[in-house]
Amino acid sequence: MHRVWNFSAGPATLPTEVLLQVQAELLDWQGAGCGVMEMSHRGKEFTRIIAAAEADLRELIGIPADYKVLFLQGGATQQFAQVPMNLLGRGAARKSADYIVTGAWSKKAWKEAQRIAPVRLAASVEARGEAADGFTRLPRPDELDLDAQAAYLHVCTNETIHGVECHDDAALAAQLPAGVPLVADMSSHILSRPLDVRRYGLIYAGAQKNIGPSGVTLVIVREDLLGRAPADIPSVMDYQVMADNGSMLNTPPTFAIYVAGLVFQWLKRQGGLAGIQAVNRQKAELVYAAIDASQGFYRNPVAADCRSCMNIPFTLARPELDGVFLAAAEAAGLVGLKGHKSVGGMRASLYNAMPLDGVRALVDFMNDFAAKHA
Ligand code: PMP
Repeated sequence: MHRVWNFSAGPATLPTEVLLQVQAELLDWQGAGCGVMEMSHRGKEFTRIIAAAEADLRELIGIPADYKVLFLQGGATQQFAQVPMNLLGRGAARKSADYIVTGAWSKKAWKEAQRIAPVRLAASVEARGEAADGFTRLPRPDELDLDAQAAYLHVCTNETIHGVECHDDAALAAQLPAGVPLVADMSSHILSRPLDVRRYGLIYAGAQKNIGPSGVTLVIVREDLLGRAPADIPSVMDYQVMADNGSMLNTPPTFAIYVAGLVFQWLKRQGGLAGIQAVNRQKAELVYAAIDASQGFYRNPVAADCRSCMNIPFTLARPELDGVFLAAAEAAGLVGLKGHKSVGGMRASLYNAMPLDGVRALVDFMNDFAAKHA
């Protein structure tokens, strides 16, 4: 069998151990006589699978008891709408919300929320027009214009396209006006490092980077934020209804939840979130060091303290070599490196399941390529 080093931004590489277990259990899950894809979501086997997935996730992250874990559908994109639908209220009680725009994804979240209600732009690094590369840093505290009455403050703690990551969410939480919950899109770095859930009112993430296959969306929500949705929103969109039904108002994405559960068990075997963070830091440092030592052959425009450990966009000084780079990389078994079309160049996504050996192979390739074409 031939497996490449897959640097795709998502859906992304999964741990080989997990895939082998899925393969072994595909036709007969632990003696059930059928696979997980084929069993009722209400049966005793799947009830065990989803309960174990939630318990393992709670243990991994350390999710406090007054937070609900929901396994939803519709991706992070659905959360762009579902968050304001649930949290803004309606009529005379309607509130606004604040959005910090630090890249393409938080900008999309802000735009989508405006379809539900007028929400505020609390800061945008892009709007200040200073960054030729669009988004290359987080706003400074003095650039934030926060509404003390906001229903929530929305952030994206890792911008997958621009490679901007918030490494100090304690500082971010310290900026919050009293009583305003922090809502975070963590799609592309959840489970990559320890997480203090208490800093947040609600966390959401699409699965297809660090959690498992696409199709399931994780929501971790503090209980006091449930039950705020207007009565006329669809029941599948109401967090309270989903929580009351254990994420099973309707058929959940059973196979994706099962694989996610195996990924959580795998992560526990890697030493949990602190263990995986140590490896993730090493991986990212290798790639940034190669970029920074290339004397301008490669360039990453992000401010040093906001560089993402998960998604590393970089450009070549000679963009006419982009195609040559990608073709040679693919021939060397390194795939998924094409940058997002909005920023061009390359992007290496180094999610949890990308082993150190894969990153070493990438860095060796980058160094050789630069030597050959400098
Ligand atoms: N937010 C972030 C940070 C993302 O990286 C993505 C997907 N790449 C999304 C939201 C959208 O996710 P989905 O396609 O699951 O809706």
